[in-house]
Amino acid sequence: MKHRGKVREIRLYGDPVLRSKATRVESIDDRVLQLAADLTETMLSRDGLGLAANQIGELSAVIVLNPRAAGGQQDILVLINPEIIEAQGTIEREEACLSLPGISEVISRPARTLVRAISLTGKQFELPVQGLLARALLHEIDHLNGILFIDYLPPLRRRLLTGRLKELEDASRLTLAGQTQIRPSCA
Ligand code: ZN
Repeated sequence: MKHRGKVREIRLYGDPVLRSKATRVESIDDRVLQLAADLTETMLSRDGLGLAANQIGELSAVIVLNPRAAGGQQDILVLINPEIIEAQGTIEREEACLSLPGISEVISRPARTLVRAISLTGKQFELPVQGLLARALLHEIDHLNGILFIDYLPPLRRRLLTGRLKELEDASRLTLAGQTQIRPSCA
């Protein structure tokens, strides 16, 4: 059965689901297939490099990546229960997040990584990545653990974001209250 993805609402900073840990997927059932399709559709609708289940309000360990958005050739990748096997080097680069619109900051991440995951067909595979795609992959795996990229900022730089973070928290509260048309102003 083919699962047609729906564009889902992206949860914003302040939503507790972004601070919760996703649980491992035990079986690739209809719900997981639909989740992967929705993640893909939502990521593409926002020209994202990647998206994690938490960002659309689901706590299952599933992420999607779009290598083409990072200049790669591969088709969209779905990673279930991704685990970091190796991470090497360090590189500083600007980073942003669909759950934190209007914020981009330079942070340090490993330059290369090797990740093990399960595919949608239930096969285990290993994915060696570097550059922008490695950054995106590590960023999405962080989401599954309730970690956001701003957590890596030194306290002083984080403090400079206080106003914007407060705006996002307010927007998130309104969205959670059901006013789904509210959009935060995005710089
Ligand atoms: Zn993100």
